Amino acid sequence: MYGILDNLKDLPLELDLPYEIFATRFSEPPSKAEDEEKDSVDISQYFFVKEFECPVCKAKFSTSVLRDSKLRMLRMDELRPVYRDVEPLCYDIMLCVNCGYATLKDRFLVVSEKQRDAILANIRTNYANFMPATSHAEIDLKQGVERLKYALLTALIKKVSTGERAMLLTKIAWLYKIMKDEENYLYYAKYANAELTKAYQNESFPIFGMSEGVVTFLLARFAADEEDYSTALKFLSNIIVNQNLSTRLRDLARDLKEYVQQQRKDEK
Ligand SMILES: [Zn+2]
Repeated sequence: MYGILDNLKDLPLELDLPYEIFATRFSEPPSKAEDEEKDSVDISQYFFVKEFECPVCKAKFSTSVLRDSKLRMLRMDELRPVYRDVEPLCYDIMLCVNCGYATLKDRFLVVSEKQRDAILANIRTNYANFMPATSHAEIDLKQGVERLKYALLTALIKKVSTGERAMLLTKIAWLYKIMKDEENYLYYAKYANAELTKAYQNESFPIFGMSEGVVTFLLARFAADEEDYSTALKFLSNIIVNQNLSTRLRDLARDLKEYVQQQRKDEK
């Protein structure tokens, strides 16, 4: 299962992100995920298997789909909801096992003729043997990361918006954070930050469904992670003074500002 995208550089693909992004990167020994007390829980109650038709190759395939009605949110980790027993991020990707097309499920049906041709020419020809396995069962955190990376590869071939690239990288970073894999979290957060910064400058809001307030907070969080405290504080101040944003987002910004100011003080 793991290592499927490790040899990408051997394939005739021209990608505008480094090949290392797609390779297997997990800290060893694997650390335990947060809230992992689910040994006795029957995970199968949370999903069912559903059949879809691929918009690229028209083949039918089936995959695990979460039962939204069963999900119980426990709390928010900044902008990310944390659920009991399952991590929905692992189920965010739709993957056709016939042609290898993979994408965030909200974008599954959005494919132009040109994108379709590019996917068939590049993925099916070069790559079909390397795709993640079909899933009719629980998708764990590591598999979730592999599926998101595989979808990022499709996204580059499909030439999606910068906002969509940023979203995929952010979700990969978050999964590493959930695994408490700090090194890889920071690695992917850096790329997510670069893509989101480009989208912030060049795309109009909402950026891939994210409001200006949400994007600004993410940029502040990534800047804080990179220890670029002055940039983080600039974005956070924009949020705090903006009365049009929700109280929750402004409270989050105040909390992060306090943290950043503390970090900066400690460094001096
Ligand atoms: Zn297909």
